Amino acid sequence: MSRFWSSLTHGLSPYVPGEQPRMAELVKLNTNESPFGPSPRALEAIRGEATDTLRLYPDPQASALRAALASYHQVRSEQVFVGNGSDEVLAHAFAALLKHDAPLLFPDITYSFYPVYCRLFGIAYETVPLDQAMQIRVADYRRPAGALVIPNPNAPTGVALSQAEIVSLLEEHPDAPVVIDEAYVDFGAETAIPLVASHPNLLVVQTMSKSRALAGLRVGYAIGHADLIEALTRVKDSFNSYPLGRPAQAGAIASLEDEAYFQQSRARVIEGRERLGRGLVGLGFEVLPSSANFVFARHPAHAGAALATALRQRAVIVRHFPAHRISDYLRISVGTDGQIDRLLSALSDILGSP
Ligand SMILES: *Cc1c(COP(=O)(O)O)cnc(C)c1O
Repeated sequence: MSRFWSSLTHGLSPYVPGEQPRMAELVKLNTNESPFGPSPRALEAIRGEATDTLRLYPDPQASALRAALASYHQVRSEQVFVGNGSDEVLAHAFAALLKHDAPLLFPDITYSFYPVYCRLFGIAYETVPLDQAMQIRVADYRRPAGALVIPNPNAPTGVALSQAEIVSLLEEHPDAPVVIDEAYVDFGAETAIPLVASHPNLLVVQTMSKSRALAGLRVGYAIGHADLIEALTRVKDSFNSYPLGRPAQAGAIASLEDEAYFQQSRARVIEGRERLGRGLVGLGFEVLPSSANFVFARHPAHAGAALATALRQRAVIVRHFPAHRISDYLRISVGTDGQIDRLLSALSDILGSP
């Protein structure tokens, strides 16, 4: 704290990302990164940008990347916004679209960055509780709202809504912007992108961090009606004209061009998730039905914090949230087969010891 801080800074309560420890032999299953790495073609494209041209600013509109995303998702370039990770895209969406007289709605258990953005931008919000099964109940969103933001699948539960449920949210709130945060959609949920054509209030946000294994490159994007995209661009150009460098733009395009690698790595993550889920159930855990690259699980006889600590002593890091309703859960990212084995044997050791 310092007298030099503005009153805004005093009032912030920043998001705390999962840690990035530097320990040898660590099984790191705490931040939902891909265990398999990016497409070799993306790496080659990124290396290809390490030249003298780095002295030049990148394309501020990222036109080639936006065109590649538009063609991949069958929309027009004017319907695509790109940013430095989807966290930045979401921040711009909060600033550009989500502040209204009526409150912003999002689930009580969800991505913990949302309330952080609300504080930063002075947005009033209300949380809507998940049901007993830790699922979003669409009917509970039938109440006055200035805007909605919903992750699909939800984080950190991994539970997905169907496209029909998203439609019902959109139709319930035709006059409110609805942001669907699809950070994990490629692991088994239905994307809402096809609904953009018929719903001018819908903004879909995706990322290359998880299913394309490019968390370190920082590329996220939004797809929606051109008017919504224009709002994000106005905020972006009032903040940072060049959010994506040349390597990021080139690497992201090359990743989109390597469909075979993408399909194969997401299928491997889904297989790993099913094996991880079965292993946890075998050890007595309750595992929520996941459509993501992680599972959310609790053991009826062991506190989540104690399990997370015991795992850490065995060099396995998972994410534990000390928040109300979820403090007994562990969020465990899907790793390689070897990492899943190390996690399961560490848990079996912990649960078996008196
Ligand atoms: C990981 C994640 C993001 C942000 O990812 P970026 O790396 O910033 O693209 C956004 N929303 C949710 C729900 C996430 O889990």
